[in-house]
Amino acid sequence: MNADTWKEAAAQNLMSNYGVRNIVLARGKGSRVWDMDGREYLDFLSGISVNNLGHCPDRVVAAIQRQVAELMHCSNLYLVPQQVELARQLCELCFADRAFFANSGAEVNEGAIKLARLYSRIKFGENRYEIITVKNSFHGRTLATLTATGQEKIQKGFDPLPVGFKYAQFNDLESVRETVTSSTCAIMVEPVQGEGGVTPATPEFMSGLRELCDKHQLLLIFDEIQCGMARCGKMFAHQAYGVEPDIMTLAKALGNGLPIGALLAREEVAQVFQPGTHGSTFGGGPVVCAAALAVIEEMRENNISDRALQMGNYFVGQLKNAFAGIPAVKEIRGLGLMIGVELTIQGADVVKQCQEKGVLLNCTMGNVLRMLPPLTVTHEECDQVANLLATILKDVPAAENLAK
Ligand code: PLP
Repeated sequence: MNADTWKEAAAQNLMSNYGVRNIVLARGKGSRVWDMDGREYLDFLSGISVNNLGHCPDRVVAAIQRQVAELMHCSNLYLVPQQVELARQLCELCFADRAFFANSGAEVNEGAIKLARLYSRIKFGENRYEIITVKNSFHGRTLATLTATGQEKIQKGFDPLPVGFKYAQFNDLESVRETVTSSTCAIMVEPVQGEGGVTPATPEFMSGLRELCDKHQLLLIFDEIQCGMARCGKMFAHQAYGVEPDIMTLAKALGNGLPIGALLAREEVAQVFQPGTHGSTFGGGPVVCAAALAVIEEMRENNISDRALQMGNYFVGQLKNAFAGIPAVKEIRGLGLMIGVELTIQGADVVKQCQEKGVLLNCTMGNVLRMLPPLTVTHEECDQVANLLATILKDVPAAENLAK
């Protein structure tokens, strides 16, 4: 079958929730992917911050191959050594004392919501269950996590939504403060919003949230599903702010392409999950944990987070130079190699033109070009993308109203 026949087959039998997809990818290595016709693309999206070590990194591939041939699955009725070792290493790397593993971001956020509610019920009684999230956040597509997501377009049509969520403004401490009531049990935010337009939290917001949580005995939950795993210049983005949460969620790049999510918490909170409270058939299986261990080993050995910070600074510098005097560019922002370029125009056509020229990136919130290159990206690859974007954008007039 060729690419066109696959597209026709998709139109027949796949649900249409992802819309039409024009590229059929067959292979990937490092920063590059190739479609079925052998056309090469420079991948500046990394499967939306999943392939942080690039496509098919040797160490991860070897670990998966080894483990697949040994034991693929045994359920959580039996102890999985790879799962125990992964929990140990993740806890060594951050504030957490214990880990639980599931298969996706939404699933571990769902777990974080359950953990926060249960902790609060045991400690403070049944009336403290509300979680404050912020506008333009993204926490997943299950019913609870889409309700946690502060975007009406994600929630539309799925009423009735679960109760127990309230929304404040991102980077506006006063608005969070005003939203706290005697029913609040936790505050949940992404240190760098991804789907919501690649917006880093301000240092004041992060430290203010911690103070607010301490003052009212609330749990602070950081969703690091997109911004974690070395992407923002530290192993976990919150470490760039020096502010620790009580609960953190990870997924995406933890397995560099295999489906794994981690829910991490400090001891006092984690211990409310007792037998029967939570679980997952596939969660923390030997193959995905072997992959994640190889990811962490590779990241630590090669100081990938430092590299992300340096390359991020370099790339932002190159983008600033290349975009000087271009009216369609409103702002360049981000942290490490999580970079957004806010345009004064809609971004879909720019993404399309990049794709035609062999570069993959995407657009969030209609007008923010999002770049999440592999953390192994080279200077030349950053130059190539900065120059391409400047060439595409230089003749586009600024059109303030189009962006809305
Ligand atoms: N949280 C954040 C910050 C995300 O970016 C995403 C996915 O984009 C999710 C949660 C949901 O993860 P998943 O798609 O693995 O369920």
